Amino acid sequence: MTKLVNDPREFVSQALAGYTAAQSGRVLAVPDAGVVRAAQAPEGQVAVVMGGGSGHFPAFAGWVGVGFGHGAVCGNIFSSPSAEQIMAVSKAASNGGGILFAPINYAGDILHFGAAAVKLREEGVDVRMRAVTDDIVSAPTEDYLDRRGIAGAFIVLKMACAAAEAGQSLDEVERVMVAANRATRSFGAAFGGCTLPGAKEPMFAIPPGRVAVGLGIHGEPGTAEAVCGTADQMADLLVDGLFEERPPEAGRRVAVLVNGLGATKYDELSIIYRRVAERLADAGMEPVAPVVGEQVTSLDMAGLSVSFTYLDDELETLWLAPADVASFTRGQPPLRASRASVPVGVAERPPVRPGSPGSAALAVELAAKIGLARDILAANEDRLGAIDAVAGDGDHGAQMVVGCTAAADAVAVVLPLGPGLGTVLAEAARAWSERAGGTSGALWGAGLEAAARELGDEVVPDAAGAVRAVRAFADGIVSRGGARAGDKTMVDSVLPFASALAARVEAGDGLAGAWRAAARAADAAAQATAAFSSKRGRSKLHGDRSIGTPDPGAASFALIVLGTG
Ligand code: ADP
Ligand code: MG
Repeated sequence: MTKLVNDPREFVSQALAGYTAAQSGRVLAVPDAGVVRAAQAPEGQVAVVMGGGSGHFPAFAGWVGVGFGHGAVCGNIFSSPSAEQIMAVSKAASNGGGILFAPINYAGDILHFGAAAVKLREEGVDVRMRAVTDDIVSAPTEDYLDRRGIAGAFIVLKMACAAAEAGQSLDEVERVMVAANRATRSFGAAFGGCTLPGAKEPMFAIPPGRVAVGLGIHGEPGTAEAVCGTADQMADLLVDGLFEERPPEAGRRVAVLVNGLGATKYDELSIIYRRVAERLADAGMEPVAPVVGEQVTSLDMAGLSVSFTYLDDELETLWLAPADVASFTRGQPPLRASRASVPVGVAERPPVRPGSPGSAALAVELAAKIGLARDILAANEDRLGAIDAVAGDGDHGAQMVVGCTAAADAVAVVLPLGPGLGTVLAEAARAWSERAGGTSGALWGAGLEAAARELGDEVVPDAAGAVRAVRAFADGIVSRGGARAGDKTMVDSVLPFASALAARVEAGDGLAGAWRAAARAADAAAQATAAFSSKRGRSKLHGDRSIGTPDPGAASFALIVLGTG
């Protein structure tokens, strides 16, 4: 149970405010976005920017400081930060030597970091992105780059950051990150789910005496259940899993992290490490500078993971290099002067230009529809959350309400300035993806942005123009998310909607009638996804568990188009 909460909506910002106040010697706040080092890095040093959802402390803000990260972006609990937040931290963290984005592999994080990378490159900054993919249960060995990231991120990022601290070039730091990730394997287990701030119940429960094996760190259930035996049996289970995955070229020396997820405490972790060390010795292997403690938590989840990184000389040197961050100190990192303050915050909205009278009139109608969509989502929030909890993380209703509410609010602010359709949609897109960090937030942001570009602020679209805008929305989602029809995502109701709308308009229907018919097709298609097994996003790991339940993103899209026709 997460007990010490004022207002659940302020949980992340209040925790960050307290953290930056207590650690003012190590970090500076980037308002509404995250933290950067308090120490001045040398001009030209590569900046490593990490981040993801909050609720994992010390990951990621607790890893910022000399010898480790340059900046951490802090999203909402368990949900990716927005591209705008990532840009703000990146600009504050940059030392002029290029930036490595080092998120852990979750769809939402990859989408938002990817969008930020595109924008920064347009501004002339050399940005690379490599994700941590260490969780052995989440994809087969040959597809290890598709695995999700968990606590092994601590080791991988420590190494990449040490390369940056040593003054290596962006190419080199990126190469080290790739090598460290390839050499790292993690395996975890949980005894109890975590409770979101303000929630009464944990996100999932594990029967007494059982343990969920192969959990995620966002409250996703494990991939299998086993009997929970003694500490040594638990250590053996995890080590056996890791040994099965030992790369053939692995040497004898291995960096080790025994990580607690929140409610499993230090003595228990030490008992586990004792057995892990015995098993390594029996296998003729040698642990190097092991770390035992909490580095990647999942709020108050009970459980642990073990990570191994198989070392070569280069990785060992980087692992042993000095670092001084809130959660970890090693050796004596170089002394650096403090920075006075952080110069940049989240970017300002560009000024609004009025649209043509026809486009501005339609924009008023569109704004009303966005408000309607927000109300529909609010009325269905719990139901969408429940669908998402079957195989995902249960936040889809909340994400959609946050995103659409932000969109409606942002549109209300600009509407008195007489914007055209394109500006209203662009404003909705920006606010939606900025406030709703999850996968759906990024995708709705991408779709609406594409539709905004198609419509512009001058032309008054006829029915065919509306069809083209909807098609652009669909293309925006497909090109940002990469899902195909049948993967069990929102694409499975968006594409039928776009096709049906085009067909009805071509057959001569008016836009309103065509929209209603297309919405019925989208709804039927969304319901039909219940028969599919999930191939994308968080729920793909639990693909078969989702059979019988429709895809949450497809369901919310259908609700919106049905209600706004
Ligand atoms: P998260 O998965 O980050 O928790 P949400 O729960 O808000 O985000 O949204 C989940 C929905 O996002 C899924 O039901 C699915 O419709 C959609 N989704 C996930 N990945 C993709 C993708 N690659 N392309 C299109 N839609 C996706
Ligand atoms: Mg979700």
